[in-house]
Amino acid sequence: MKNVPEFFACRVFDDRIMKARLSSDVYRTLKQTIDGGKKLDLSVANAVATAMRDWAVENGATHYTHWFQPLTGITAEKHDSFITPAPDGRVIMEFSGKELIKGEPDASSFPSGGLRATFEARGYTAWDPTSYAFIKGKTLCIPTAFCSYGGEALDKKTPLLRSMEALNRQALRVLKLFGNEDVRRVTTSVGPEQEYFLVDRAMFEQRPDLVYTGRTLFGAKPPKGQELDDHYFGTIKPRVAAYMEDLNEELWKLGILAKTEHNEVAPAQHELAPIYTTTNIATDHNQLTMELMQTVAARHGLVCLLHEKPFAGVNGSGKHNNWSISTDTGVNLLSPGETPYENAQFLLFLTAVIQAVDEYQGLLRASVATAGNDHRLGANEAPPAVISIFLGDELTAVLDAIENDLPYNGGEKQKLRLGADVLPRFVRDSTDRNRTSPFAFTGNKFEFRMLGSSNSIACANIMLNTAVAESLRQFADRLEAAEDFRGALHDLLRETITAHKRIIFNGNGYDDAWIREATEKRGLLNLRTTPDAMATLLEQKNMDLLMSHKVMNEAEIRSRHEIMLENYCKTVLIEARTMVDMVKKQILPAVEAYTADVSSAAIAKKNLCTGLSCAYEKKIVQKLSTLTDQIANYSEELESAIVRVSGIGDTRQQANAIRDLLLTKMNQLRAVADEAETVTAEKYWPFPTYGKLLFGVK
Ligand code: ADP
Ligand code: MG
Repeated sequence: MKNVPEFFACRVFDDRIMKARLSSDVYRTLKQTIDGGKKLDLSVANAVATAMRDWAVENGATHYTHWFQPLTGITAEKHDSFITPAPDGRVIMEFSGKELIKGEPDASSFPSGGLRATFEARGYTAWDPTSYAFIKGKTLCIPTAFCSYGGEALDKKTPLLRSMEALNRQALRVLKLFGNEDVRRVTTSVGPEQEYFLVDRAMFEQRPDLVYTGRTLFGAKPPKGQELDDHYFGTIKPRVAAYMEDLNEELWKLGILAKTEHNEVAPAQHELAPIYTTTNIATDHNQLTMELMQTVAARHGLVCLLHEKPFAGVNGSGKHNNWSISTDTGVNLLSPGETPYENAQFLLFLTAVIQAVDEYQGLLRASVATAGNDHRLGANEAPPAVISIFLGDELTAVLDAIENDLPYNGGEKQKLRLGADVLPRFVRDSTDRNRTSPFAFTGNKFEFRMLGSSNSIACANIMLNTAVAESLRQFADRLEAAEDFRGALHDLLRETITAHKRIIFNGNGYDDAWIREATEKRGLLNLRTTPDAMATLLEQKNMDLLMSHKVMNEAEIRSRHEIMLENYCKTVLIEARTMVDMVKKQILPAVEAYTADVSSAAIAKKNLCTGLSCAYEKKIVQKLSTLTDQIANYSEELESAIVRVSGIGDTRQQANAIRDLLLTKMNQLRAVADEAETVTAEKYWPFPTYGKLLFGVK
């Protein structure tokens, strides 16, 4: 491979290129926009656009696009070429500041959840200069926000940027109280660990369920699954290694800090983690990573499955959102400090997160709710649908000591005097890593583990940033008004710990006893499905949070609620229709063919030698006939359920019916079809089995 530092970010219009290609005046103004959110005037935009075009054309680009993240959860782009006719009949390559700053794609085909009446089809995209432009294929991609003409956000980037701003605003207030006058900006950073499956493309194409829905809707368990734990961190097979090498190169060219790769728990499952970066950029990079994972797989005769649960019976795929808050002076506010003062500050930010997660459990759960993720959360898989925080024993003991005014550390210190004592360094203990917790403190960051593998990380971080901004707002209000800062801080911490410690749980999150304790004793939410979780989005307290921090207005919240539920309904309905189709066109004919051949074999045998019992054939024919009838019956029931559910006009009612009726019918049908698979000879089975899919890539 070529020299990585040499080609790293070679397709990104980053700071290095800007410095080299822009006049110092233009560069300085642009930097002010990037760092401080200052508005860009047109003459500067023109200069930037010209430099961007020259650089892009030199690097082989012919088109440009405003690259944005509509509410579908994937990215969208509409390509325009740079060509402009010249008077002599030839063309020149042009790109203006106006084209850089604003685009006007026809927005009518993107979901808006009622935000944009159909007669007002226009939306506009606006350049987000905090995320660098890059070249993908032959296209210059300009990261943008996407809004309706009324100014409502039709995308995920706009509220994310607003939530980062909200947190910045409140965190600065708090930091000032601790005397940090030099801090100008507070940002959140994220490192998302991305899980995925790789399967052989030829096999994938033989399975309509994978092609249409991204997950297997049928499939009996193979003799071997993940029980030996021999895949996790195992040797990477040559074909997979070649894929990872190629993927890394593509990601590095785009300036994405791909760092760690390994095999995951399930066979054919892998993970890629980048080095963390600013949340907004991490979000853009994660979208690009998911896209490249799929395009690079195609080059290797593979398919990358990003679905949360492509296979029943083995682990599904998630995405761990490692999140921290830091200052522009380089301080990680979730890192216990060296001095007593830093420690008091750390504890304040820590309790702000604890309060935020407890108060807004519902919003956090809703932010990761999709039909795919429902197969993981609350369905006997990591993590449960109940949100709790893992802090580890040491930190929990510190909070206990503060709450009860008790000596910390077995009486070694008299009392934990805030702002006076140095806390121990919380070294991360690898034996103490709780993998079952949905929200774990891991030394200097929190790891939110409920995200599904295909989720955009935007939604989770919007809710997390805003909820923490709200805690900090309350803390700042109270402390700013206090006469004795140290005393007020102590009281504030103590009261917050008492009020919200129910969310802290250091035990095994998979345990049924925990779910009972969480819901019955502690009153924590257990929102098992998407329709359950989505309802919380419209609760007044949650709407107030998002509105008061100007992250979303009421219309934007309602539209998202509508779109998420619609997505849920459409996804499951497509799955149900695919099942019926596969049963009728593939499974039943296959079972019939095998049954017929076994029957003919028995008849032939009897003709040859009278008196044979043909007990084996009889058993198989009987078993398969029974199963055939059951499959046909359940399939018919599923078909009528589809008709019934499709007729429900109200989205919420439809989603509930899908959860209660359709999914039940789908499970019943699958169970009998999977049983038939175990009885039918392999060569009759119409598509590749689990065994082949999961162990087929060498
Ligand atoms: P693991 O959780 O697998 O042990 P690490 O904790 O080292 O791995 O890192 C997981 C992810 O967390 C990586 O993407 C890493 O860049 C990210 N990360 C590390 N430190 C921080 C931080 N301070 N803020 C946000 N993300 C971080
Ligand atoms: Mg991790």
